[in-house]
Amino acid sequence: VDHCTAESADPALTLLHRVFGFRGFRGQQGEIVRHVSDGGDALVLMPTGGGKSLCYQLPALLRPGVAIVVSPLIALMQDQVRALSQAGVRAASLNSTCGLEELRTIEQDMRRGELDLVYMAPERLMTPRMQELLQQVPIALFAIDEAHCVSQWGHDFRPEYLQLSVLHERFPRVPRIALTATADARTRQEIVRRLGLDEARQFLSSFDRPNIRYRVTPRRNARDQLWRFLETEHPGDAGIVYCLSRRKVDDMAEWLNSKGRPALPYHAGLDAATRQRNQQRFIEEEGLIVVATIAFGMGIDKPDVRFVAHLDLPRSMEAYYQETGRAGRDGLPATAWMTYGLQDVITLRQMLDSSEAGEAHKRVERHRLEAMLAFCEHTACRRQSLLGYFGEDLPEPCGNCDTCLEPVETWDATEAARKALSAVYRTGQMFGVAHLVDVLRGRETDRVRQFGHHRLSVFGLGADMEAGQWRTLFRQLVALGLVEVDLDGYGGLRLAERCRPVLRGEQPLHLRRDPAPARARRKRAVP
Ligand code: ADP
Ligand code: ZN
Repeated sequence: VDHCTAESADPALTLLHRVFGFRGFRGQQGEIVRHVSDGGDALVLMPTGGGKSLCYQLPALLRPGVAIVVSPLIALMQDQVRALSQAGVRAASLNSTCGLEELRTIEQDMRRGELDLVYMAPERLMTPRMQELLQQVPIALFAIDEAHCVSQWGHDFRPEYLQLSVLHERFPRVPRIALTATADARTRQEIVRRLGLDEARQFLSSFDRPNIRYRVTPRRNARDQLWRFLETEHPGDAGIVYCLSRRKVDDMAEWLNSKGRPALPYHAGLDAATRQRNQQRFIEEEGLIVVATIAFGMGIDKPDVRFVAHLDLPRSMEAYYQETGRAGRDGLPATAWMTYGLQDVITLRQMLDSSEAGEAHKRVERHRLEAMLAFCEHTACRRQSLLGYFGEDLPEPCGNCDTCLEPVETWDATEAARKALSAVYRTGQMFGVAHLVDVLRGRETDRVRQFGHHRLSVFGLGADMEAGQWRTLFRQLVALGLVEVDLDGYGGLRLAERCRPVLRGEQPLHLRRDPAPARARRKRAVP
């Protein structure tokens, strides 16, 4: 009888423990490691923070030869190499900052079999010099990190990744593992096709983060709302507040400090030393808030971030998922909270339309923004909507998002939408929401008189609804793409092609009713 201990029975587990100090595998890690160690190709789809690195690092140690890791970002390579070296693994990275001397040393180490992993950018890997070297040394595997960079459909497209398709032909016996955190079905297919991974086994992990509670709330007064959220739900907790502009970041951080919540700013306008210091403090101290633009968070691994708050709408669902995903890495309850309003939609649309990007790229980005807006206005389970976007089907509502906890009221907005749309049309498709609401509510302002809008048939047609309700409706019409925001920078609205059936009354419209504003709790008078 073989009296092996569990440890010695599985060399992968032994290494996992000895080198990385972990007791067990997470999710599908174990299976992936075994598959690749046995020489199989793999496509790994795992959310950020899921533990992708081990999936190639362990096979790299288990197989003879050097593992070649392709990565697009120098900073990420250097982090990885540093961490591996600390764990006693022989790793190096080759990038454009390497001098000739360093390059020679690393090449020599590879020849002598003295390296377990070498990280490099794809263009380095494809140089004739590197290709020749690789023909002469045993290779453990090729790992292609951030594999979605090969997809032209995606937002991170890197042309150099396309050349990686030849690895398969040149090194048919070397297993390849492609890894990514962003891949809808379409991108996945593109990765498979472009990298010749038809035979690869696909390991698709769930993107669900069940301990994160998703909440989206219409904006009234962002500061008040944020403050109430922080004080009632996360007093003393560490968290991240995201804003779009540097100025807003600075203002918010200052304001939080003045209210007694320690907060640090983080954005690309601060010098590197300050950024580094603020990031370090956030990681080491307890209960700090970082107010940041999206520049914050890459490579942050703080397990006890209890909340992520968005004061501005993220550009896409991908961004939203990544940013909210920094909450609750420890598995304990955490909140992803966001306020959003019409101005977000207008700002983002305008930023997009005025950007230098090509038409095809803009179309993709517009599509992404639309998905983000649809998520905000979604009337059913947020988690189902979020996961659905990534091609994952959550069979039951989650019970841990705002719409599950407090089902939203919907109402038949068909008639009101027709009135709103005709107000846009009758006033000449050039006015912003404030004026349109005045017209609908029948307010004879100077502006209304100046343009003679009090003589229009729609004037006063919407007196039965409050101004706030009309503003909500306009936000939703824009979010649904029925109304477009003008490019002139003044937020004028015009009709989109899509609104015709609604305008003609052929398409009913059911929308979410914004929750009533939480009333400030009145203190009971003490006699
Ligand atoms: P990804 O590349 O998918 O974003 P990483 O490989 O950087 O994720 O891993 C994220 C974090 O999880 C790291 O801090 C890593 O040390 C940790 N981790 C990965 N696998 C395990 C495991 N099996 N047990 C405990 N911690 C793990
Ligand atoms: Zn839900």
